[in-house]
Amino acid sequence: MKFKSLLNGIKTYEAGKPMELLVREYGIKPGDIIKLASNENPYGTSPAVIKSLNRSIDKVSMYPDDSAYELKSALASHFDMLSENIIIGAGSDQIIEFVINSICDTNSKILMAKTTFAMYEIYGRLSGATILKTQSHEHNIDDFKDIYKKHKPNIIFLCLPNNPLGECLNTDEVYAFLDSIDKNTLVVIDGAYQEYARYKDPSKVIDPKDITTKYSNTICLGTFSKVYGLGGLRVGYGISNRNTIATLHKLRPPFNITTLSLQGAIEALKDQKFVHDTVEKNFEQMIRYEEFADKKGLKYIDSYTNFIFIYMETNSKELCEKLLKKGLIVRDMTSYGLNAIRITIGTKKQNDTVLEVLDKLC
Ligand SMILES: *Cc1c(COP(=O)(O)O)cnc(C)c1O
Repeated sequence: MKFKSLLNGIKTYEAGKPMELLVREYGIKPGDIIKLASNENPYGTSPAVIKSLNRSIDKVSMYPDDSAYELKSALASHFDMLSENIIIGAGSDQIIEFVINSICDTNSKILMAKTTFAMYEIYGRLSGATILKTQSHEHNIDDFKDIYKKHKPNIIFLCLPNNPLGECLNTDEVYAFLDSIDKNTLVVIDGAYQEYARYKDPSKVIDPKDITTKYSNTICLGTFSKVYGLGGLRVGYGISNRNTIATLHKLRPPFNITTLSLQGAIEALKDQKFVHDTVEKNFEQMIRYEEFADKKGLKYIDSYTNFIFIYMETNSKELCEKLLKKGLIVRDMTSYGLNAIRITIGTKKQNDTVLEVLDKLC
């Protein structure tokens, strides 16, 4: 049997190590494991979500509302837009897939930062498109402009703020960039951590309504997996003009979002206090990692997210393995060609443990 040859060039996505692996391989008790590797919400999700899901378990025998009417209405009102401007995906990952497959084939080009969210490249390569990356690891708008002028890519991904580095372009830089590019290029603005950036620095905010109204060639992505604490339910969304959204809907498989996922997301969106408290605690706790890095003379990137990227002086891969054996899961960045680790900011108690162990190992 012969598989498509373009699959040879594609690496399987490496997700954060699951807790189950540590239980199996190192015999660590589940209660002793601290997982800060996938940027999940360490405070769980809104209690209102849990309550609502508990009450609705009997709905599992029915197919979900395929139009996602209620969630789209709720998101539309949250962002002051219309339901026709919104598409729901099984995680925003799925919207990335729709966007690429609606545009790209083997003649296409996709531009992204050198170090950014891995799924842009994976779905991009699957479509046969050529992947273009900036020289600098972080988003550098001059780099983007140069490559844009030379290659006229079909899609540009801006991850604002950027995973796995944590940095974020300023809103005015993004608008100036959009002014300089042609409407034939679609610019995808991945806002998986926008709620965090918005809290830390208003000059980083991307307002989906404003940007998609001014620039018809943009789409904003968001997710319920991070600040809303619903990584296990797989819900994300895309916001754009009605034409783009209508086109993306042609690629959407029926019933792509489960009944309980839709319901969980609707409840999560209502609880903005939970979002606010999560973000507030996140940045309070992040300072501790910054102070730790300063104390050790380690460089880190100023983060607008729920994780921090710290460069290591000793081998980061070995460090992560030592941490794993102690039940602490963080993300090694060796596969990105960087001797660094990315740690999701945990609860106070989790950070107490992680910082204590790191203090001994770094
Ligand atoms: C987590 C993340 C996503 C998507 O997550 P889903 O769980 O698929 O919604 C998208 N982009 C970035 C940058 C992320 O970090």
